Amino acid sequence: MPRQSDKTTCLVAGAGPAGMMLGLLLARAGVDVTVMEKHADFLRDFRGDTVHASTLGLLDQLGLGPRFASIPHRLIETIRMKLQGQPVELDLHRLPGRHQHIALVPQWDLLELLADAAQTEPTFRLLRSTEVTGLLRGADGARVVGVEYRDSSGETRQMRAELTVGCDGRSSTVRSALGWQPRGFGAPMDVWWLRLPRRPGDPGGLAGVFDTGHGTITIDRGDYYQIAHVIPKGSDAEMRAQGMPALHRALVRTVPWLADRIDTLSSFDDVKLLDVQLNRLRRWYSDGVLCIGDAAHAMSPVGGIGINLAVADAVAAARILAGPLRTGRAPAARLARVQARRWAPTAFMQAMQRAIHARVVAVAMTSGDPQPPRAVRLVAQSRRLRWVLAYLVAIGPLPEHAPRYARRGG
Ligand SMILES: Cc1cc2nc3c(=O)[nH]c(=O)nc-3n(C[C@H](O)[C@H](O)[C@H](O)COP(=O)(O)OP(=O)(O)OC[C@H]3O[C@@H](n4cnc5c(N)ncnc54)[C@H](O)[C@@H]3O)c2cc1C
Repeated sequence: MPRQSDKTTCLVAGAGPAGMMLGLLLARAGVDVTVMEKHADFLRDFRGDTVHASTLGLLDQLGLGPRFASIPHRLIETIRMKLQGQPVELDLHRLPGRHQHIALVPQWDLLELLADAAQTEPTFRLLRSTEVTGLLRGADGARVVGVEYRDSSGETRQMRAELTVGCDGRSSTVRSALGWQPRGFGAPMDVWWLRLPRRPGDPGGLAGVFDTGHGTITIDRGDYYQIAHVIPKGSDAEMRAQGMPALHRALVRTVPWLADRIDTLSSFDDVKLLDVQLNRLRRWYSDGVLCIGDAAHAMSPVGGIGINLAVADAVAAARILAGPLRTGRAPAARLARVQARRWAPTAFMQAMQRAIHARVVAVAMTSGDPQPPRAVRLVAQSRRLRWVLAYLVAIGPLPEHAPRYARRGG
């Protein structure tokens, strides 16, 4: 039985990119906000570490640009793909704004930066090792009035909140407690994440090769490559059973210059599966509760845009909700406005990802056709199309800007 009750204005479940950004912005608006994170720290498995141009611009607006710049990171200025023999290069130099690149930082460094900034605000609280386990309902049995959670000592407690925001990712507890099922769009692939050493003089940046039956993306992380190796959906067990030599052969086939270091990858313990999901909730809110980020829409890794979209959701939510939350209210009509604002860019980017799944990834994974698909040839030939793609990846449709109350510096 729960033994203790507490109160906050906005309870954020999950301290990923969406939850930390929302917590920071609401705290800067003077809203009492409590973020609960089930892990003790941000140091966990690789989760993707691309910080796109629009998020970099946002960090500048928040006065966090200099601190971000002091974190060791690498910049990607061109994305080079080879799709069934057809080279396609996305040049980010021509993008508008100060940041004509994508930055690569470990996600935990970005989250720690946001947490440090938020913790200087008197109305902010981050509870680590604290897991949301369920939702509290009001007297009408419908309105969500807070959460039940397990604290760092393992005790079950309750916290009441005017608004609960599910930022708890693709396996969201908040979403499950509401009984909501996202609509799934399927995906033709899963991804194996692994690392191989990078040596001085090796190619930098981000490069991908998709060929008949194979797909490999190498991301320069300084002294190593973070590698995404694309495998057919649901084939993890079968492919592991084929053994390490088969993986070595597949990697060297797509990226031949990895041959001289391929033996450093000796165990499948170092190969992590990403079960690719692409889904979206029909409705992101109900009375007293809202889901954003992956909890509302899991993105495919295509384009590496999941963090950017999660952050953009948080910015829109903070801008739309800070006013009413300051007076201790979160009317459902305002929650609806958050979904209305973020639905179109999300649906658009998911439609793009689905098209790339169907026309590029599935074709490369399954067909014996060595010809690149028509869509790929069109993009390769058209500078304008390549600019549009670069813009969509690095900035995205409807980029969100920091609310005035949250801006610091220049
Ligand atoms: C292996 C991998 C690689 C990826 N690569 C990229 C990439 O290169 N670029 C990119 O943009 N995106 C990438 N993504 C996707 C990206 O990580 C997500 O889209 C993004 O992190 C979503 O942010 P979020 O805040 O909505 O959710 P998450 O980042 O999933 O954060 C959810 C947080 O909630 C916490 N949590 C969960 N349940 C509870 C609970 N019950 N109580 C309290 N806390 C809870 C979790 O511990 C976590 O900290 C990758 C994802 C994975 C798994």
